[in-house]
Amino acid sequence: MLAPGSTIGILGGGQLGRMLVGAAARLGYRSHVFTPEAESPAGLVTPFVTRAPFDDEAALARFAAAVDVVTFEFENVPAATAEFITARGKPMHPGPEVLRITQDRLEEKDFLRSVGVATTEYRAVNSLADLRRAAQQIGPRGVLKTVRLGYDGKGQVMLGPDSDLAEAWRRLGGAIAILEGFVDFACEVSVIIARNASGADATYSPVENRHVNHILDTTVAPARIAPEAAIRAEAIARHVADRLGVIGLLAVEMFLTRSGELLVNELAPRPHNSGHWTLDACATSQFEQHVRAICGLPLGSTARHCDAVMKNLIGDEVERWREWIADPSAKVHIYGKSEARPGRKMGHVTRLLPRG
Ligand code: AMP
Repeated sequence: MLAPGSTIGILGGGQLGRMLVGAAARLGYRSHVFTPEAESPAGLVTPFVTRAPFDDEAALARFAAAVDVVTFEFENVPAATAEFITARGKPMHPGPEVLRITQDRLEEKDFLRSVGVATTEYRAVNSLADLRRAAQQIGPRGVLKTVRLGYDGKGQVMLGPDSDLAEAWRRLGGAIAILEGFVDFACEVSVIIARNASGADATYSPVENRHVNHILDTTVAPARIAPEAAIRAEAIARHVADRLGVIGLLAVEMFLTRSGELLVNELAPRPHNSGHWTLDACATSQFEQHVRAICGLPLGSTARHCDAVMKNLIGDEVERWREWIADPSAKVHIYGKSEARPGRKMGHVTRLLPRG
């Protein structure tokens, strides 16, 4: 067990890192952020920052020597970075193998299928000929996604019966991709689960996510789904976390189809945007839970003291903070990014509601 006073190394300097630093600080831990960015949301809230590219071995060695455990706040940390740190004898949670699987959509889906979890139909696509074949097998409506480095709808092209496949393939820039069958879902849900080294786990209530332009816009907690579907969603998350051997948090994004089937869309082994509501509405936030899991502390209660609706403040939506800050039922979080570019997550606001 790593006691308060220890130092947590965080790879990545975004808002998830920033909120992790806050939760760690409350429990008496120090955080050391490793980020290539000159100014980062997480780097603004701790004095311990290494600013260097992820392949700078000298900087990584100094970082590894200065921390007691390493985690990450985004899953595109290069595999070589993770290996370098663990080779220096520093524990990394979740581990490099979890990172390897979840940073590659094809590996992730193959893994899910191998442990008996339902996903959308998918095919690997390495060329235009592959894409034509895959489209024939999967049907006219699909989503072509890069296998690596896609997020918030980047590296994705929606395909319909009239789509020009050559043009779609060009738009992805020839990157290795997968074609997924389009799911006409009733709603999107996610479950955030924490698991510690002794295999104990704790799940938050499934939540409902609404995306706009492929970016999460709103999370409704708890999800307005049948109790039986919520139980199934939590069981899927528990099974996946266990089979992956995650130490830390795992977010499991799922589609609930109109026939009631749950298909896993994506995994994220870290705090997740759809768990931000837990900061204000739960006994233990997802960020504190991640700290507890990676430091070997007992997991906290995931009990919800109220219902909540979380709205992301994207781009210049953040300028509406004055409205929200004057609302007694709203909790405003702003990430300290200096430039409000379109599509950029600038903050979020959680409206607290009586428990339904
Ligand atoms: P992803 O990056 O895979 O999480 O995709 C971002 C969003 O695009 C999802 O949350 C869905 O709203 C939509 N989407 C992705 N894949 C599919 C799919 N196969 N069928 C329908 N909608 C999808």
